[in-house]
Amino acid sequence: MESEESVYSHCQNCGRWFRVGIRFATAEEFIDAKIRKRTVDCPFCGKNTLVEKQYLRFDEQRIDGHITHVEGRYFV
Ligand SMILES: [Zn+2]
Repeated sequence: MESEESVYSHCQNCGRWFRVGIRFATAEEFIDAKIRKRTVDCPFCGKNTLVEKQYLRFDEQRIDGHITHVEGRYFV
C-alpha cells in the first residue's frame, strides 16, 4: 500500500509542529522506537528546541485515504 508518512516535532518555544528527518515505515515502528534526545532549531521561530519522543507525532496517510495519527507522549 502506498503511503505518505511523516514525523513531526512540537516546538517547545512557539508551539508549532515541524517535520523532522526521522522516518518510520509504520506506526508500530514508531511506537516501539527508542528515540535519542537531541536539539534542533525550529524552522518557525528559529530557537533551539528539544526533540524527544514525548514531543513527536507520527502521521501516515495511505493512498486509500486512511489516516494513522500517533502521539509519542503515550508511548514514552
Ligand atoms: Zn518554534
